[in-house]
Order: sequence, then structure tokens, then C-alpha cells
Amino acid sequence: MIPGGTDSSTVADPPGIDDAWANRARAIHDKVITLDSHIDFEPANLVAERNYTERLDSQFNLPKMIDGGLDALFFSIFVGQTKEAQYPDAFQPTGYERAYAAAIEKFNAVARFVGAIAPDKIELALTSSDVRRIHATGKKIALMGVENGYPIGEDIARVKEFHGRGARYLSLAHNGHNQLSDSHTGERDGWKWNGLSPFGKQVVTEMNRLGVMVDVSHASKESMLQTAELSKAPVIASHSAVRALCDVSRNMDDEQLLALKKTGGVIQVVAYGGFLKTTKADSPERMGAIAALKKEYNLPEAPGPVQRARFQAALTDLPADQRTKYEKKFVEIGEQYPGDPLPNLKDFVDHIDYTVKLIGIDHVGISSDFDGGGGITGWNDASETFNVTLELVRRGYTEEQIEKLWGGNLLRVMDEAQRSASKLKKKTA
Ligand SMILES: [Zn+2]
Repeated sequence: MIPGGTDSSTVADPPGIDDAWANRARAIHDKVITLDSHIDFEPANLVAERNYTERLDSQFNLPKMIDGGLDALFFSIFVGQTKEAQYPDAFQPTGYERAYAAAIEKFNAVARFVGAIAPDKIELALTSSDVRRIHATGKKIALMGVENGYPIGEDIARVKEFHGRGARYLSLAHNGHNQLSDSHTGERDGWKWNGLSPFGKQVVTEMNRLGVMVDVSHASKESMLQTAELSKAPVIASHSAVRALCDVSRNMDDEQLLALKKTGGVIQVVAYGGFLKTTKADSPERMGAIAALKKEYNLPEAPGPVQRARFQAALTDLPADQRTKYEKKFVEIGEQYPGDPLPNLKDFVDHIDYTVKLIGIDHVGISSDFDGGGGITGWNDASETFNVTLELVRRGYTEEQIEKLWGGNLLRVMDEAQRSASKLKKKTA
């Protein structure tokens, strides 16, 4: 628990009470390939002077990945959606070029990291057999997925270019409509295409042809359903949660989950607090008391993931007696003004349970959205990854099932996307 950063509910029983669970979970965790399908990053953290070989403030970096036993990740080649209201040329060549340049900067940053900065520690995978081969060498595994098709502009050839740079999934939209697709944000703002645009449909077909997985996270429901109908290969949601448990437009309702299953695809359930549980805001009394306490101990506010990490670092830096006093006072505030507990590991695994029951163990996976807003009590950075396996074991998941959830399913879908691409190629040859 992070006093002041997160809630005070306990996630797991103290060690000793159920060592048997922990031992069993440890054996499984060490054996299966653990793959997180969505982690954001800053190119500034992938340069020679400052990079993820160090224990940076970020939720993800190699030391934390090693501590948590996380084997593989998809680096998100994310480009935010520019709106015409702020940038009138958002959907003109100049706007598309800005987005393209931002995407290329991220592709290059990952290539530099795996190629020049840490080639002895992490390697880029382009296929599931790459993933297994690299895993056998003991190195960490990097993959790339594009979040938001906006940087494609109106040039279909860029899908092939991004594939050539290593992208193995591409999401049609982010927050806000683009030239390819409506975004989930249309539930608030109204629609642009009523699903996919004509060009968006071409892009889906092109992704199928190349073997790039089509990612429906962030797309509108209508767009997602049209994509599932159109795609010749299984579709994925690289980081989404369940709408029946948390009613936000970013999540997928049962109809969508069933449509995803029908394609043979997978939802990578995301550990993003706001998509797991709607948390009531703190009372003004509680907010005031916590702010005053933090001020007394000279601790920073902790709203976002980066700030949360800074807060934790500042707390760790306090002299032991000061820290004990702070923690005691924090508990007292909680007794006087209880807060709504923040989403934790149990809430997260509830979403996994729900999807497994609805669409089956073969269609569910795991993602964190670290350094992009993700992280919950119990899995707040890559070093805590083991806790997820522990909670799955406690709930009765078997090793075989956990292997599927931790990446087996996504790698199967990646294979199927590539197999169906070569079939399509033969057909048109
Ligand atoms: Zn996202």
C-alpha cells in the first residue's frame, strides 16, 4: 500500500498464512511467458544518457521488469488525437505529417533501445517464435503496437511501412474521431462516420493482408462491431475492460465481447483504475486533511502515475521515524474520513473472471497501460507483476489457463493473423 497514493485495503494475505499459494504461484510465474500488451513510453527515456536500463521513476523499466518477472511487453507507439478545434489542419497533410513524425520518433526510440542501448538485455520480436526463442535466451522481449492509426494519414502504404518497422498491432482510433474510425468519445461528442470510414475499411483489409493485428481498443462500439465483421483475422482489444462491471465508453459490453470471440480474438483486460471501478471522489474534509498532512511532511501531491512514483520515492526518502509518524496519521485520517477504496488487484481480476466466464479462457489476456494512466493497488508498476499471478492462482486458475492469460492467447492470435495473411497472399498471387 502507498499511504496517500492509493487506498489502504489489503490485497493479499500476509506471507506465512498461505505460503502454499505463493509457492505454487511462483512456480507458475517463473515458467510461463508473461506478456503485457500495452505499455506507454517517452522517447526521452530511450536515449543513451537516460533509459530503461536504469531504475527510473517510471512504472516500467528493465530493473522493475526483472523484479516482477515480466518477460515481454508491447511498447505502445502512441500518437494522441489532434482535434480540429485546436488545430484546423488536423486532417490536412501538415497535420498528418506531424502525427507521422511523432510515430516515427517512437519507432526509432524502440529500435535504438533494443539495437544500440540494451541489446544484451532486451530484443525485438516480430513473431511468436521470436518471442519463445528470445525467452529461452533469458533476455527480455520487446514488441511494438501502434496506438491510433492517425499517423497513417491518407497513405495506405504507411500500414506496410509500420509493419516493416515492427508494428504487430494497430488501433484504429484513440480519444477523438480520426480519418479511419469513430472513437468511443462519440458517446459524448456525437459521431463522424457511424463506425469505420471507407478508408478505415481499406486499412483493416490492408492489416489483414500484412498480418498486423487489428486493435479495437478506443474505437466506438459501432466501429468495433464493423471491424469484427470485416476482418479476415481475429481482432484484439490491446487494453480494455468490461462495461458490465464499469460503465464507461472505453470498455466493451457483452455484445462486443461476444463479437470479439466470434473472430477468434482476445481482450487484454487492462489494469486501469478508471475502467475497473467507478470510485467516488473524496469528501472535502478528507482531501483537506490529506493535503495538510502531505504539506506537513513536505510530500508531493500524487494524482497521476508519474507523480505517484515521485510520491513513493519522496516517502521512501523520509527518515524512518518521520515515515512511521506520517503513516500513523494517514491511517487516522482514514478512520475519521474514510475514502472510497481505489481499484485494486481483486477488482482487476474480477474483470478477467467475468470475461473468462462470458467468452472463454482462450479469449482473454492481460495489460497494464503503465506510464499511460494504468496501475492499481497491488499492480502499480512492473515490479509487482507477480501479484497478478498470485491472485489468479488464489482464484483457482490452473497453470495451463494462466499461460494462456499471460500471453499464450495473444501469441496465438498473432500467429493466426500472420497465417491468414500468407493465405490471403496466396489467393491473390
Ligand atoms: Zn490507450
